[in-house]
Amino acid sequence: MIRRQTLSALRLSMSHGIYPICPLLKKNVCVGDKDDLKERRRVVELSVLADGLAGCNMCNNPLSLSHTTRVLNYGLGALLKIPCKNTGCQYTNTVPTGKRHQKVFDMNTKLATGMLHAGIVTTHINSLLTALNIPTVSHAMMDRRQRETCDALETLTNKSTEEWTIEELRLTSEQTGDEQLAVSVDAGWQKRGSGKAYDSLSAKAMEQDMIVEMVSECNEKGLKTGTVIGDDDSTTIGRLRRHVDANIKKYLTRIM
Ligand SMILES: [Zn+2]
Repeated sequence: MIRRQTLSALRLSMSHGIYPICPLLKKNVCVGDKDDLKERRRVVELSVLADGLAGCNMCNNPLSLSHTTRVLNYGLGALLKIPCKNTGCQYTNTVPTGKRHQKVFDMNTKLATGMLHAGIVTTHINSLLTALNIPTVSHAMMDRRQRETCDALETLTNKSTEEWTIEELRLTSEQTGDEQLAVSVDAGWQKRGSGKAYDSLSAKAMEQDMIVEMVSECNEKGLKTGTVIGDDDSTTIGRLRRHVDANIKKYLTRIM
């Protein structure tokens, strides 16, 4: 039974983003002893674990999970140090709990991709993992994994945006005979990185910068923007005409 004080302390630590700290955290690895496997839950790819336990790397003698002497935790994944019980061998095997690419656990990269998709940060993930009694992940490691996935996602996003802009241009030309794009623009920032709200003036200035940059980039790629659809802010269209194209048209939308 969990004592009331323990539960309160756990709730308090989770609400403040404080999680159980690994006592032996060195670089990006958290080292646990043989009890680490009994005390905490794991994310495990069973087929990978089964392959690792199938035979010792030296003598091919089957290995047993219960013989684990040390656990090296790398985020969600872990390397299990399991000595061979063949008395003539006694080689210490390293058995991974999941697939890896260049020594990086796939499950950590997948977690980083999932976080970007869900729009959540490491603190949210660690709250969830703590509640599940699964080892938490470090901010530094998740930053590295997000950088790894960001490049791939950015390339994919740019490719997709370009393809659909060309398609939009084709459909516009087909339906109106116009060879230029009509684009609807809007943007908003509610919070700074510090958590404080943006004031409306700086948010508006950023929106204008962003629109000028996007329309310029499109024009440079040969995807000309003829009309901008937006709110009744005249500064944005003024900047577009001054910096990008003097003939760009404005179509007004009103928020009901
Ligand atoms: Zn062996």
